[in-house]
Amino acid sequence: MLYDLAIIGAGPAGLSAAIYGSRGQLNTVFFGDETKSNLYKSHIVANYFAFPDSPTGPELTALGLKHALQFGATHIRNEIVDLSVNDDQTFTLKDNNKNNYQARTVIISTGQSFILSGIKGEQEFTGKGVSYCVTCDGFFYRNQPVIVVGSGDFAAEEAIQLSNYTQDISILSHGKDFSFSPATIEELRSRDVKMYRTPRLTQFVGTSEAPDQLSSIVFSQPLQGLDLAPDGATEIPAKGVFMAIGIAGANAFAKKLGLEMSGNYIKVDQEGRTNIPGLFAAGDCTGSPPQVATSVGNGCNAALSAIKLVRGLGAYIQYN
Ligand SMILES: Cc1cc2nc3c(=O)[nH]c(=O)nc-3n(C[C@H](O)[C@H](O)[C@H](O)COP(=O)(O)OP(=O)(O)OC[C@H]3O[C@@H](n4cnc5c(N)ncnc54)[C@H](O)[C@@H]3O)c2cc1C
Repeated sequence: MLYDLAIIGAGPAGLSAAIYGSRGQLNTVFFGDETKSNLYKSHIVANYFAFPDSPTGPELTALGLKHALQFGATHIRNEIVDLSVNDDQTFTLKDNNKNNYQARTVIISTGQSFILSGIKGEQEFTGKGVSYCVTCDGFFYRNQPVIVVGSGDFAAEEAIQLSNYTQDISILSHGKDFSFSPATIEELRSRDVKMYRTPRLTQFVGTSEAPDQLSSIVFSQPLQGLDLAPDGATEIPAKGVFMAIGIAGANAFAKKLGLEMSGNYIKVDQEGRTNIPGLFAAGDCTGSPPQVATSVGNGCNAALSAIKLVRGLGAYIQYN
């Protein structure tokens, strides 16, 4: 099915966009787990318009979700692991259960856009062995050993895409247990991707001859029982590392699609448009003040722009 509007994110920005999109008669789908939004983590929200009794984050989230579903939007709680633009300018979204969805317009509302891992040397070696985007940089590692750091479906997806360039791929779990489904594990195995449950990485390092180029990674504890390195080693050679911790955020989508950024945030105009036609962004991922009110406003704005685009209208206002 071709949706008119697909929204990635179920926080205030995504839910608000879903309300406007579906009420504006767009066939609307929104993705993501509302309990993973920053709103849900808020103990109380004392400053949101028309809620003088300071609801808790979970209370406001539940009301927002109920409202978003009221006008017929479809909610799919899965995580989007890939977003691409098709030749006909529509979009394909892929979720962590390997389902594909097509949409005419997309709003990215994935919250805080960029979370650095905190591994020492990360920024220094970014672009010099440390990468965040297989689509952008996978080509540079053709037939070379590469490491993907992460334990969730986003890491699995990056490894699968890397297998188009090299057959020597290891995923390191960075102190967590892998959360891959059996089908994902099967696919990774079929592509000879190795999976190692490792301690946390603590540092990226170069050599004295080439201090600017990544040469190895250091772990917080000695490695044991892995064929990655001898028991007791705390450092292994690494020339190419793809960071894929957590779930695919705005930054990952932006890098892949070539979205214009302003620092770590997706650049949007006053109507929530990015530099790619049909692709909008809203909420914390755009760098607007991180507040529920601004995120809700951004979501409304982006959805109104999507309605105008789908309907071919110059202006669109929802008054009743
Ligand atoms: C502790 C705390 C207290 C706060 N208190 C207040 C307050 O009192 N008042 C106030 O106005 N603001 C407050 N804020 C800020 C406010 O919560 C945020 O500005 C707001 O939630 C941002 O909304 P958003 O929709 O942009 O992002 P988020 O609320 O972060 O939602 C992002 C959504 O995107 C989903 N998502 C991300 N990636 C994917 C993916 N790949 N696929 C599918 N879904 C994805 C997430 O699961 C989530 O549902 C607080 C924030 C925190 C952390």
